[in-house]
Amino acid sequence: MEILRGIAVSPGIAIAEAIVLDAEDYRIPQRTVAPEDVEQQVAILDRAFESSVDELGRQRDGWSSELGQETADIFNWHLGVLSTPQLRTQVTELIETNSFSAAYATSLAMRRFQRRFQKIDDPALAERVRDVRDIERRLLRHILGETREDLAHLSRPAVLVTHELTPSVAATLGSSKVMGVAIDVGGPASHTSILLRAMGIPSVVGVTDLSAHVSGGDLVIVDGVNDMVIIAPDAATLMQYRDQQKRYRQIREKLADLRDLPAESHDGVPFKLLANVEFPSEAAHCIEEGGDGIGLYRTEFLYLKDRGAPTEDQQYEAYREVIRAMDGRPVTIRTFDLGADKYTQEKSADREPNPMLGLRSIRYSLQQLDIFKIQLRAVLRAATEGEVRLMFPLIISLMEFRQAKMILHDAMEDLEDEGIPFNHDIEVGIMVETPAAAIQCRDFVREVGFVSIGTNDLVQYLLAVDRGNERVSQFYSSAHPAVLRIIHDVIKTCRKAGVSCSLCGEMAGQPLYTMLLAGLGLREFSMGPHDIPEVKKLLRMCKMKHMERVAKRALSFETERQVVNYLRAQTRKLLPDDPI
Ligand code: PEP
Ligand code: MG
Repeated sequence: MEILRGIAVSPGIAIAEAIVLDAEDYRIPQRTVAPEDVEQQVAILDRAFESSVDELGRQRDGWSSELGQETADIFNWHLGVLSTPQLRTQVTELIETNSFSAAYATSLAMRRFQRRFQKIDDPALAERVRDVRDIERRLLRHILGETREDLAHLSRPAVLVTHELTPSVAATLGSSKVMGVAIDVGGPASHTSILLRAMGIPSVVGVTDLSAHVSGGDLVIVDGVNDMVIIAPDAATLMQYRDQQKRYRQIREKLADLRDLPAESHDGVPFKLLANVEFPSEAAHCIEEGGDGIGLYRTEFLYLKDRGAPTEDQQYEAYREVIRAMDGRPVTIRTFDLGADKYTQEKSADREPNPMLGLRSIRYSLQQLDIFKIQLRAVLRAATEGEVRLMFPLIISLMEFRQAKMILHDAMEDLEDEGIPFNHDIEVGIMVETPAAAIQCRDFVREVGFVSIGTNDLVQYLLAVDRGNERVSQFYSSAHPAVLRIIHDVIKTCRKAGVSCSLCGEMAGQPLYTMLLAGLGLREFSMGPHDIPEVKKLLRMCKMKHMERVAKRALSFETERQVVNYLRAQTRKLLPDDPI
């Protein structure tokens, strides 16, 4: 049994056999073949070794003339590993003695090989881990050809173990048999993590080198509560986790009793608990969990689903589906937040060196006016069907907001000229997710219809910590005193101006922050649908005076640790059984 620590990003416990994807997304299931097919697997393996040696030899010769001998020599080591009989004999033996498929035997042998280098405490040799991965990938490419198995069509439940996972692959897991996910890299607020949480798949990220420790078919536990991944658990641990899994399900089932109760404090102050959604199908989820509407519809995920720019009609239909599903409840549609870790970077041949500070969100839309206008037309048309608000992401200046509104008016004029019905009075607001917008909030509230605080990005930009990087995840915290104070200022400014203010970052759905945010004056929370019942439960237990006292005390601390310890102690008093 091996226990590895990571960052839990989606709660729950998953227990299943592992499927390991390497960095190129090859899926290597543990597969055995019939005895009569063993010979064929050995032949496949032999061909893969020969093709890899040929290919590498050609590439090395090319590199030595282009890049010099030194670079080409690095690959001589790869050639050495592939042409000396040792590795090939080992893989062949794995096939012959266990009837493993060539792909699985290769993956198993290469992972053992990698582990040998990982144990050596010498940075020069640590580099070899990457080389071994490279060789594995090359061999698997030749063994599997281009026939990657599709995760959406697994035949039995599995835990997905992978070095990294892009939002576009994560988005395909919703209806699959993937029960849990464990990833080598990643941070708590990355879009992949948000998606996994939205799909309710227990997940742990930032488990350094996990994928090198696991082979396809190993039994794995993803503990999305205590930040752990357990490989090959012993019988006692397995039993304990099966129990915990049952208890976790019971807690969730009990929360369902809250569904039809109003979201209000113990002394009757009303709150709006809204849902963040990425796909139209999640709107139903919001209602199932007792949500009061959609506070954030991340429309850019239409790109992931359709793998390209969605047409005006496709968008119109998606927006209309969400609005209709909400049956009169409010829906806030955010214009495309492309760039950063979403879609456009992933696909771009010309990657930005610093995409989080690059051409993303409203900046991208204002440069790609055709795409932006099509989206605005689709939103305006769909907005005739219900209570819809339009929101612009990552605003840093009033000029940007005014420019975006001008394009909106152009789109309205075009629709008018074409005689197409649309909502003339749509309310327009912004996300406050940059320090600039937060600090200048006093100016924004004179022009915007509403504000939604996006703490996922606000924390990232205020603290200068990449939200998706596990190496700095210990610095990424919504409990930093600077974050608390800036949120407080925005809420106060909006209240004073009579402008509606919600918060749609992940912290809105974390019970740790519920009393604090309510006590700071927030009345609208928008979160993953799954988080609504627990936040509702907590609000209904507390009187406003108490939450205001908690907020005041939390604001008085100088360090993030003090804030977390205090909020944790306060929350535990009310939810003693919940992992906080
Ligand atoms: C945020 O930044 O807090 C937010 C809600 O937007 P996203 O997570 O899509 O960047
Ligand atoms: Mg954001």
